[in-house]
Amino acid sequence: MPVKRDRVSEGIYVFTSGMYAEVTATVIFTDEGVLLVDTLPFPQETRFIRDFIEQRRAKVIYVVNTHSHGDHVYGTYLFPDAEVIAHYRCRRLMERYTERKLSDARQQTPQLADVKIRLPELLFNEVMTLRIGGRTIELAHSPGHSPDLITVHVVEDRLLIASDTVMPVPYIVGGDLDDMVTSLATIKSKNLENLVQGHGEILLRGEIEETLDANIHYLLTIDRLVREYIARGVPRNGVLDITVEEAGLSRIPLGGLVQRLHHDNLLTLYDAYRTEMRVRRAA
Ligand SMILES: [Zn+2]
Repeated sequence: MPVKRDRVSEGIYVFTSGMYAEVTATVIFTDEGVLLVDTLPFPQETRFIRDFIEQRRAKVIYVVNTHSHGDHVYGTYLFPDAEVIAHYRCRRLMERYTERKLSDARQQTPQLADVKIRLPELLFNEVMTLRIGGRTIELAHSPGHSPDLITVHVVEDRLLIASDTVMPVPYIVGGDLDDMVTSLATIKSKNLENLVQGHGEILLRGEIEETLDANIHYLLTIDRLVREYIARGVPRNGVLDITVEEAGLSRIPLGGLVQRLHHDNLLTLYDAYRTEMRVRRAA
């Protein structure tokens, strides 16, 4: 499947990977240049985005890395003249882990051979506002999926690029469930026309609130059920009996990946709560 391109607003295009988990990248054209949010993992798809921008005689001036995961940052090196923006923790995580993760990934995936790590240099903590070519772009910390995640709000277009805070199933491995619930609730307070998920379909106005509510409900449900299973003495693999549907979501999106992400969530919660209970018992 080739990379897919959708126009979501005047001069704003979303590219969705056909090679990796429907991960998205968003191109925002302005009179002063292009802002690119995330970069896809595979250079052959990122080059498709670069060519699209060059054909319009435009230049990328900023690349936003929404968080340090490879599927969002690997393509950054193809825009060497752009300034790279991220949360300060994203840079810290990349300094520590990304080079090693990339060399591991290369063993399985030769298409990553050309990728070079480019570290973000324009860093912030809570919020950062950019004014470019008449557009107001608000970047905000949105932890939960990962501690360094940021969302990008294109204010005049009522568009939120939510990165992995919003995907067909919330994924909290390496992140934090409570933070994720707070971050999802924060998005609910914005009056949006479109929402770009980190993975999967673009959400339209009528679907946004319902999706955010369903994701919050999913997290609170698995949180409660895993605790109940542990209290009943169910062994570790027993929590995998909790289905995605029981927690209110569908396993159909992302070509089967939802089920795997859901199982990872359950086992991560099981391990965290078992440790918590052991600590409590020992105290
Ligand atoms: Zn991702």
